[in-house]
Amino acid sequence: MPPVPGAQTPTAQEQAALNGVTAQFRNSFANFLACLTESRPKNPGMEALYDAKIAALQDPELGSKIVNNKWWLVDTATGAGGRAIAFVAVYPNPAMRAEAWYALQVAKLSLPLLEEFMGAQFPSTVITVHYGFMMGSSGGGGGLILEDKTTYMGRWKPPMMPYDPVICHELSHAYIGHEGLNQFLEIYVYNRLLGHTPAFADWVYLRDYKTLTGVKTGYAAILDVFKAIGLEATQRAYRAVYQLKPPYGQVLPENCKQAFVDQAPEALKTAVRNMMANVTY
Ligand SMILES: [Zn+2]
Repeated sequence: MPPVPGAQTPTAQEQAALNGVTAQFRNSFANFLACLTESRPKNPGMEALYDAKIAALQDPELGSKIVNNKWWLVDTATGAGGRAIAFVAVYPNPAMRAEAWYALQVAKLSLPLLEEFMGAQFPSTVITVHYGFMMGSSGGGGGLILEDKTTYMGRWKPPMMPYDPVICHELSHAYIGHEGLNQFLEIYVYNRLLGHTPAFADWVYLRDYKTLTGVKTGYAAILDVFKAIGLEATQRAYRAVYQLKPPYGQVLPENCKQAFVDQAPEALKTAVRNMMANVTY
């Protein structure tokens, strides 16, 4: 992991990406504030953490502080096909700089793993990270909104996942909206990031797969499919599903389940069909 840089001089592409983020400050902050205000009462015991985020966002000078104090980081990765992918992170507090850099580097290292698995260029040439503004994290289309690691670990308790896979997860949502399918991608990318081979037996991070009992659903069913049909057939299924765009928060459509059955050898089609039948969300 490269050391946290001091004041940076952005490339033209990085500067354009940074300009894009700062032009959106007013809307972004209003949206963050509305989400935090709405979800605060639903999370008893976390009021103080919410209030710290809300107070930062209520500062009318926050946008100009980020610009003037350079509370941002930029970097560039070479994506598939030699494309330059610009990374930009902004954060609301100078104490978050090292953590924001770390998150940016995790995203940067995850990018080629995702492109290779999906067999398709990342859908954007700009990846923006809003770091530390929100409780919880979300992502899609190259925009990552990440809770800062300090806040996340401060409220961590079982069965919450470790922090770093969250970054892989939110980046993967650029390809796949559907949550269960995306949780498999999170597991795959994070294990590869740790240096493990694509073989399931090598993986150390499996969410709570090993302690599950009963019928496997969601990502756990997809892990079973992966174990049955292997890496290349699973990749082909994901590449087909990418074209079908199964959305977040909705039951997985039949044609997406069928994409996995289609890639299974004849002898395993019934078993894979039965496993995929249990993937709903
Ligand atoms: Zn998700």
